[in-house]
Amino acid sequence: FTPDPDEGARVRELDRAHLFHSWAAQDAVSPIPVAAARGRHFWDYDGKRYLDFASQFINSNIGHGHPKVVAAIKEQADRICMIASTFANDVRGEAARLIAGLAPPGLDRVFFTSGGAEANEHAVRMARLHTGRPKVLSAYRSYHGATATAIGLTGDHRRWDNDAAAHSGPNIVHFFGPYLYRSHFHATTEAEECERALAHLDQVIRFEGPGTIAAVVLESVVGTAGVLVPPPGYLAGVRELCDRHGIVYIADEVMSGFGRTGAWFAVDHWDVAPDLITFAKGVNSGYVPLGGVLISDAVHDTFRDRVYQGGLTYSGHPLACAAAVATIEAMRDERMIEHAAWLGESVIGPRLREIAAHHPSVGEVRGLGVFWALDLVRDRGTREMLVPYAGSGAENQPVNEVVAACKAAGMWPVYNYNRIHVVPPCNTTEEEALEGLAILDEALNHADKHVV
Ligand code: PLP
Repeated sequence: FTPDPDEGARVRELDRAHLFHSWAAQDAVSPIPVAAARGRHFWDYDGKRYLDFASQFINSNIGHGHPKVVAAIKEQADRICMIASTFANDVRGEAARLIAGLAPPGLDRVFFTSGGAEANEHAVRMARLHTGRPKVLSAYRSYHGATATAIGLTGDHRRWDNDAAAHSGPNIVHFFGPYLYRSHFHATTEAEECERALAHLDQVIRFEGPGTIAAVVLESVVGTAGVLVPPPGYLAGVRELCDRHGIVYIADEVMSGFGRTGAWFAVDHWDVAPDLITFAKGVNSGYVPLGGVLISDAVHDTFRDRVYQGGLTYSGHPLACAAAVATIEAMRDERMIEHAAWLGESVIGPRLREIAAHHPSVGEVRGLGVFWALDLVRDRGTREMLVPYAGSGAENQPVNEVVAACKAAGMWPVYNYNRIHVVPPCNTTEEEALEGLAILDEALNHADKHVV
């Protein structure tokens, strides 16, 4: 493409005149007009290139403009753009077959949605109808989406403004999951953290009344709230608690699924089979909106002769399903899952640890696959966060400076409170990863200035 700053200015003006932006005070929004995107890069209208270390919303797991997926969408558009979910459709069936084939055994049915929040919304509804119980447990330090139930489940500050309208209330109860670096349980080892986090969840279940709890909803690796990788045994322990009390275990794999952790689903790392798995994002890298719920035989059986009162106009949209089929095939053919695992273990992880060694502002490096976070601190001894939880304005300056330096140098990062997340597409090359990490290394000098 040819750079065209005038067109860029027009695109920005259009946006400012007519677009209402998510998670933002509208007057503070200043979006970069994007002219082109290909592979792991995108370009603005001035011709400036950005390395996408965010995979957009941590969803473009195969990068931008994958030719096979683009071709599959075009081909499907020529055949059938839309056919309602009342009808059987070839790509819809094939997408469901492929997705079920990637899931742990016993999860053979798929209910398609248009995104992750809707998937959680329906998973919770299925669990409530299946068990006949009202309550749902979810974790503090979590994000499950922005619809009423999904934002109610969410365990971070984004819920606060929504509490009045969200379906949180007495039927959603939050608990603390494992997070050794900032342990809520005064643990000093992973084993201790695991045991105490499970004991805490057990207590919450007992005090809420096991017979009142329909589901536990849990991100298999917590994403936006910190890339928190559960200690070995934690997810198996959750599975065991759910089994003991007849509670439906819902794994939210919207962000952690489809290669992000170097596995098709994050639960694969710990060999755990939930009752319901929610997915979206990486299922087709967002080329066309798609999400869904993978459903166990037991939950499915509830609705064999009972009507499931739920549906969506765009459930199993053929363009989205064609994109999913092509995405899964491309990921398989190009061994992207294996590559993501290797990149995390051999390139990103080791390089981030080297970076941490000479930046006093880095308190902890954690992650796996193409799913990493730097926990930034003012003081390594006390682990005081570089910027406060849910802080605002000038309080966030130290992290804003790091982010601005990354962007100025042509790398687009993800940040959240005191953390920088490194979440590039699964097919990022070693050279691209090292290039982005070198930019981050340099940018962290801004954080170091604020270390006490
Ligand atoms: N669940 C998790 C773990 C997520 O990370 C997200 C989005 O970031 C969602 C659910 C919501 O997905 P969507 O934005 O597609 O509704």
